[in-house]
Amino acid sequence: MTTTNTKAVTQKRKQEDESPRPNLQAKRQRLLETRKNLPIWNRQKDIRTAVRGNDVLVLSGETGSGKSTQVPQFILDHCGPGKIAVTQPRRVAAITLARRVAEEMGTPCGSSSPASKVGYSVRFDESTSPSTRIKFLTEGMLLQEMLRDPTMNQYSCIIVDEVHERSGNVDLILGFLKQILDARRRKEKPLKVVVMSATADVGSISKFFSQPSVQSGSHLSNGETHPDQVGAVDVSEASWSGLSDDEGENSLRLDAKVSQCHVEGRQYPVKLQYLDSPSDDVTEAALQRIFQIHCKEPMPGDILVFMTGQETIQNLQKLVEEYAENLTRDFPKLLVLPLFAALPQSAQQRIFQPAPPNTRKVILSTNIAETSVTVPGVKFVVDTGKAKIKQFRNRLGLDSLLVKAISKSSADQRKGRAGRETPGQCYRLYTEAAFHSLDQDNTPEILRCDLSEALLKMKARGVDDVLAFPFLTPPPREAMEKALLQLLQLGALDENGRISKVGRNIARLPLTPSLGRVIIEAAALDCLMEVIDIVACLSVENIFLNVDTEEAREQAQLARQQLYRRQGDHLTLLAAVQAYAAEPSDRRRWADNHLVSHRAMQSVMDVRKQLRAQCKAAKLNSDDSEKPSESIAPSETTSENILKAFLRGFSNNLARLCPDGSYKTFTGNQTVAIHPSSVLFGRKVEAIMYNEYVYTNKAYGRNVSVIQLAWYE
Ligand code: ADP
Repeated sequence: MTTTNTKAVTQKRKQEDESPRPNLQAKRQRLLETRKNLPIWNRQKDIRTAVRGNDVLVLSGETGSGKSTQVPQFILDHCGPGKIAVTQPRRVAAITLARRVAEEMGTPCGSSSPASKVGYSVRFDESTSPSTRIKFLTEGMLLQEMLRDPTMNQYSCIIVDEVHERSGNVDLILGFLKQILDARRRKEKPLKVVVMSATADVGSISKFFSQPSVQSGSHLSNGETHPDQVGAVDVSEASWSGLSDDEGENSLRLDAKVSQCHVEGRQYPVKLQYLDSPSDDVTEAALQRIFQIHCKEPMPGDILVFMTGQETIQNLQKLVEEYAENLTRDFPKLLVLPLFAALPQSAQQRIFQPAPPNTRKVILSTNIAETSVTVPGVKFVVDTGKAKIKQFRNRLGLDSLLVKAISKSSADQRKGRAGRETPGQCYRLYTEAAFHSLDQDNTPEILRCDLSEALLKMKARGVDDVLAFPFLTPPPREAMEKALLQLLQLGALDENGRISKVGRNIARLPLTPSLGRVIIEAAALDCLMEVIDIVACLSVENIFLNVDTEEAREQAQLARQQLYRRQGDHLTLLAAVQAYAAEPSDRRRWADNHLVSHRAMQSVMDVRKQLRAQCKAAKLNSDDSEKPSESIAPSETTSENILKAFLRGFSNNLARLCPDGSYKTFTGNQTVAIHPSSVLFGRKVEAIMYNEYVYTNKAYGRNVSVIQLAWYE
C-alpha cells in the first residue's frame, strides 16, 4: 500500500471513529427529548455565559435537576480546548454518570473505543481514551492527579460536584483549586472551576473563592478567622463580578471572579409519615413497611429504602426475598436491588433499568441515593434515619465507622427522592420528635475525621505550612498536629516535617497512609504479593457472607474450615483469596460452597490486579516478589512478616488481654472487643491488632490478628 493510500485509510478510520455509530446516534436522539425536560435545560445559556465571564461558577440546584449530566455538555465547547474533569464523591456515581453522558452524546464510553469522548477514572479502574474530553472521576483520583501535575494543565475546566456533602477530599480540592486558579491566571492559561451543590447554601463557597489567596492564607494561619464567620454578603452575580472587575488586569488579580447561579428543581408534593413511637429494630420496621406499601399501593411506584451499609442491606434483601416468595399470585412481583459504594459495576446499571412487567423495584441503598445517584421510578421512600459516618475517635486516635442519626437536611433530601416524577410518600422510621432533635446539617468530614491522608497529600503537593492552607472550614489546630504526628510515626515525614521518600511512595498509592505504609513495609519484608491480597480484601466491606444465627455460624465454621487460620483474619483473608484465585473452573460455586460473597471476591480480584500494577509502576516489588501467590501457603516466616508489615502501619491499633478477660488498647487503655465477624471471636490471646474500629452496642475491633508483644517492642 502506498503512503497516500495508508493516509487515506487512516483518515477514513479516523472519520469513522469520530462520527457516532448509527445505534449510538439513534439513542442520542431518543435521550435528547428526556434531556429537554430537565429543569436545567432552559438555563444553558446563563450557565455558558457565567462560565465564559468568570473564573468560578457556583451552581446550586435540586438533586435530579440535571447538573451532573448536563453542565459538562453545556460548557464543553465554551471553556477552552482542554478536558473537563467532573469529580464525584463515589465511584458508583462516577461510572454511571460517565456511561449516561456518553449515551447522551452518542459516543462510546471509556476505553472501549479510541474515539470515545467521555471516560471515567476511579480507584483501581481507569477507563479513558486518547479522545476523552469529559472525564468523571472520584475526588480521590483528582487529588492523585493534582499530585502528579500541580497545574492540571490538561484541563480547561474542573467541575466539583456534590460539594454539599463536604467530604474531606472536596475541602482539600477546593483549597488546591484556589491555589491552581492563581497559578494558572499568572501563566495566562486560565482554568475554569464550576462548583455544584444540591443545597442552596453556597454563599460561603463563593466567598471563599473571591477572597484573595494571600489574604486567606495568612488569615487562616493563626486559626482565628473562619470564612463562614465573615458576615453575610450579597452574593448575586453582579456583586461578585463587579467586585473583581475593579481589579483590572487578569494577570494581576489575586481574587477569582465568581458567579453564582441557582436552578429551580421540579418537585412534586411528598406526604410524610412518622412512627408514633420509636422502633428498636429498624430492619424489621423497614420490612413491614415495604410489604405494607407493596400490598396496598397501586403500581407503578418503586420503593427506595435508606439503610446504613452493605451488611444491613444484604440482611434486609434476604428477608424481603424470603417473604416475597410467600406472596400470592394476586400481588405484583418484587425485584430487590441493593445499592452501595462497593457494588460491582455490573450490578450498578440495573438500578436504572425499568422493572420487568408486573414487578415493583425495591432499591435498598446507603446514603448514595440521597443526592449522588438519582434512581428513576421512585414513588415511596422508607427512611431509617441512620447512616454510617466516618468519625475520628480522639481517645482511640483513629477513624471509625459509626452508625449515627442523619441530619435534618439529609432527611429532607431523602424525602425529596419520592417526589421526582409524581407526588409521592415518605415513611420515616422514627418519631417526629426525633426528627426535630436532629442536627440541621452534616458536619464537614474534615472536622470529624483523621486528617493524616489529607495532610500527606498536601505535603506531597508541596504545601509545607499545612496550618496556613486555605481551608473552606479550617480543622482545629490540635487535630492537624495529631495527624502530623501520626505521619511522623509512619515515617512519612522526617523530623523537620518534610515529606520523606516513604511518604512520597505512600502518597502515590490509592490507600490510607496506614495501609500505604503496610504495603511499603511488605515490600521490604518480601511478602508484598500476599499483603496486596489482604489489602484488596480490606477494600470491600466483607468477603464472607453474613451469619447471624448460632446455627448459621456453625454451618459457616464448617464450610470455611479450610480457610480459617489460627493467627487471625489477615491470614484467613489471604487463604480465601489464594483458594479463590487458584480455583480452575467454577469460582462462583467455590464461593457458594464456602459461604463467601462471589460479588465481593470479584471486586477483590479487580483491586488486587490494580494494586499489583501500581506497586510495579512504583518499583516496589523486587523481581522474585512477582511470584504468583496462588496456592503457595505462606511459610511460618512469611506469615510472621505479613503480620509485622500490618503492625508497622497500625501500631496504634493494638490491645492486650487483661486479667478480667477483656482487651484494652495500648494507647488510651480503652476496652475493645473482638468483632463477632472475626475468626478470633471468643478467643483469648496475649495481644491483638485490628485494622478497623466499629462501635455498635459496644466497641469492637474488626479484621483482627494475634500479634506477639516481642514484635511490637
Ligand atoms: P443532578 O446532578 O442535578 O442531581 P443528574 O444530572 O445526575 O442530576 O440527573 C439528571 C437526570 O438524569 C435524572 O432524572 C436521572 O434519573 C437521570 N440519570 C442520571 N444518570 C442516569 C443513568 N446512568 N441512567 C439513566 N438515567 C440517569
